[in-house]
Amino acid sequence: MNNVIKFLDLRKINETYRKEIDAAVKRTLDSGWYLLGKENEVFCKNFAAYCGTKYCVGAANGLDALTLIIRAYGFGSGDEIIVPANTYIASVLAVSQNGCTPVFVEPDLNTYNINPDLIEEKITSKTKAIMVVHLYGQAVKMDKIWEIAKKYNLKIIEDSAQAHGAIYNSKKTGNLGDVAGFSFYPGKNLGCLGDGGAVTTNDEELYKKIKALANYGSNVKYHNIYKGVNSRLDEIQAAILDIKLKGLDKDNARRREISDFYRKNIKNPLIVLPEVKNEESHVWHIFAVRVQDRTKFQKYLEDKGIQTLIHYPIPPHKQEAYKEYNHLSLPVTEKIHKEIISLPISPVMTDKEIKKVSEVVCEYK
Ligand SMILES: *Cc1c(COP(=O)(O)O)cnc(C)c1O
Repeated sequence: MNNVIKFLDLRKINETYRKEIDAAVKRTLDSGWYLLGKENEVFCKNFAAYCGTKYCVGAANGLDALTLIIRAYGFGSGDEIIVPANTYIASVLAVSQNGCTPVFVEPDLNTYNINPDLIEEKITSKTKAIMVVHLYGQAVKMDKIWEIAKKYNLKIIEDSAQAHGAIYNSKKTGNLGDVAGFSFYPGKNLGCLGDGGAVTTNDEELYKKIKALANYGSNVKYHNIYKGVNSRLDEIQAAILDIKLKGLDKDNARRREISDFYRKNIKNPLIVLPEVKNEESHVWHIFAVRVQDRTKFQKYLEDKGIQTLIHYPIPPHKQEAYKEYNHLSLPVTEKIHKEIISLPISPVMTDKEIKKVSEVVCEYK
């Protein structure tokens, strides 16, 4: 098939930045300096400014960013961290990698994000933090979570891997809690050409500790104050990210246009469209719809030349890796994982493609 509408055309996305990326790669190559140099410094400064935080430190990927945050707080065995049950596995891995216990909270079926009304009942004397995940690109409703965190003296850790640029109450994600982890995996709204991640925060002490932890536990070469790890954002990726950061708002605006089109034009009683109250709170990393017979719907779209993906088919608590939680019953999460399917959305989709997707979905019976 020639006219397949790809779920995400990464080559085409990066092609729009080709000239500048070529120049940035050449500049880095010529500099002879490939780790923790000027490019990293400039990007981190610009990304912190973009998010509205005082500090940003690079990491090798999003999972590391989240893992380093929990490690820097010193949370470990015996400590509990609240996590949304409906998330990508990485959020939970960051918790368990530190020896902490993830305590799952069900999502709101309308936003797919953690249901703030169900958090308080899960808090115990062992709870240390609430991890919020701005899933699919939609900022979590934070008001109640801020109140709870204050009341019980808990840290708020944001998993912002899917929500670069989403705004809640005039603040961007990455600046909605105590600290945030970002991923720059190629398919994210801000993606590099490999793995990359970052932590943003306004907490100077935490920033310094994470910066050291990510670099062998060292701030001064060969002086190791912590037993750290090696998790750094390399110069080439930082240079590329700095270029793409300048186009992020424009790319997100195009995603919003596509989402608007889908939400206005897709009219099919079999398809549940995503709901959003405040346009700026969503950057549409993923346009997820729900349908009863997902297998049939996915096959139908495939036959019409439309690629889809599922985010995600199995919830973390039902994964083999988390056998100890397989017995849990989290019906809202399980329903979402059974019915959810993601339609193509990306800044490089053409109007013709968007129209075709929406027409084909309308015709589904
Ligand atoms: C992508 C993602 C991560 C992990 O990022 P990596 O860079 O792939 O390690 C974490 N959480 C969420 C919600 C993600 O979507």
